[in-house]
Amino acid sequence: MRAEGAPTNALDRLRQDLAGIEAHDDPALLRSKSVDFHWYSPILSEMLRDKTADLLVVPRDIGELRRIAAACARHRVPLTLRGGGTGNYGQCTPLERGVIVETLALNNVQVHDGFATVQTGCIIAALEDAARASGQEILMFPSTLSDATIGGFVAGGFGGVGSIRHGILKDPGNILRVQVLTLEHAPRLIELIGSDIQKVHHAYGTNGIITEMDVRLAPAEDWRHMIALFDSYEAALRFGMAACRPDLPLRLLSTVERRFAPYYTQYQGRFDVTHDAVFALCAAQGLPDFEALVQRCGGRVSMAMTDAEVRAAGLLPAYECAYNHTTLMALKMDRSWTYIQLSYPQPFDLPLALTLIDEFGAEILWHHEFSMAGGGYGVFAIPLVSYFDAERMEEIRLAIEARGITVFDAHVVTIEDGGMKTIDDSQIDFKKVADPHGLMNPGKTRGWRPEYATAANNRATG
Ligand SMILES: Cc1cc2nc3c(=O)[nH]c(=O)nc-3n(C[C@H](O)[C@H](O)[C@H](O)COP(=O)(O)OP(=O)(O)OC[C@H]3O[C@@H](n4cnc5c(N)ncnc54)[C@H](O)[C@@H]3O)c2cc1C
Repeated sequence: MRAEGAPTNALDRLRQDLAGIEAHDDPALLRSKSVDFHWYSPILSEMLRDKTADLLVVPRDIGELRRIAAACARHRVPLTLRGGGTGNYGQCTPLERGVIVETLALNNVQVHDGFATVQTGCIIAALEDAARASGQEILMFPSTLSDATIGGFVAGGFGGVGSIRHGILKDPGNILRVQVLTLEHAPRLIELIGSDIQKVHHAYGTNGIITEMDVRLAPAEDWRHMIALFDSYEAALRFGMAACRPDLPLRLLSTVERRFAPYYTQYQGRFDVTHDAVFALCAAQGLPDFEALVQRCGGRVSMAMTDAEVRAAGLLPAYECAYNHTTLMALKMDRSWTYIQLSYPQPFDLPLALTLIDEFGAEILWHHEFSMAGGGYGVFAIPLVSYFDAERMEEIRLAIEARGITVFDAHVVTIEDGGMKTIDDSQIDFKKVADPHGLMNPGKTRGWRPEYATAANNRATG
């Protein structure tokens, strides 16, 4: 039996309007397209267990996407966008059934000098390849770049590999333009530039369909995958702090405790339980400075490989040993782990970080990510937590927050309860324009109230 969402006759009428567009209603396929990586969280796994869509549609071009948007608005059917489905918080899981729109066929890329114009469904690795073919590279990517889309990154992500050099997605000038299709009877394309881009960035696809964007490119570098080993995790963290300087050409800077080594089996000999590690990407011309700094901090380099050498050795790239790939590596061997996301106050308080490590002992395994954001260097962490129950997760969150550290709750589905903390009124105001009937990814923002849609419905019929 259907739980909620659009009445069956609305769906039937919608299907008629979408004749000729690729559509699927096989329940197993719908279920698989309704999930992302929220299974990292036992809490979300339980909460989203039965959530699924009524229909999957796969537009081939903007014309088909426009027809889908118009039909959903006309028949009041919820619409949830899906790129690669690699988000972590059930971002693309429909809470109120309806239609999932998979964007992967909208994947055109045009590379220019200093930027690329790219459609939303382009896989980030393909964008990087296109940029590299012109001697350029993208500024940042999530470690899921082989499956994730650029639209999903802008709508659901925050930054990642490359952020140590260029800051996060939110920082001015990293995304230059975003084009958004509205969910109205007659959908419109709206262009957003400058700070207006924030209206749809990290909005989980609740306020307009991102169709294409201009993203800034930088000159390509010859990156080396590096591991540096240290006698203590404190020494690794001290290296991380010292390496946060603009003249050191880095694309990744992450410290990883030795307790992760059993999950990184392929790195044996380069990283094992005897040492704590720094995983980094360093440009070839910066290697002498990188190595000198490692030595000054009491460590030694155990790996410095080109992309080709990493592939030939059958190793994972350094960035798959950092960020949320750490969680994936551990979960592949032991499903009792989950995770928590923290951002430390700046400047980074090393004794505070070490106190937490001591305090939680075997319950939390630590790795730290060094990044730029808002023009300055910062440190955050996505440590593994040995899962007991939801109550204990809450105790841990409160204990960490009591020390002045921000926790971005990874076990909730709304934008506000997770990373953003407060309702972004500009995103809600834009939703009134781009999704006046409140049909996009419903339930994912606490800022939207049913009366907003009622007002729009009255205007449409009145
Ligand atoms: C192992 C692992 C590592 C990760 N590392 C990082 C990281 O370093 N940094 C980071 O930021 N994230 C990270 N993530 C999260 C995720 O992989 C990225 O944010 C990724 O870019 C999402 O892209 P996607 O195409 O898979 O998006 P999806 O999961 O498909 O969608 C994400 C959100 O965007 C919305 N959306 C998709 N397309 C559109 C569109 N056209 N218009 C409007 N909304 C849209 C969806 O509805 C959903 O709410 C990681 C996840 C995993 C599992």
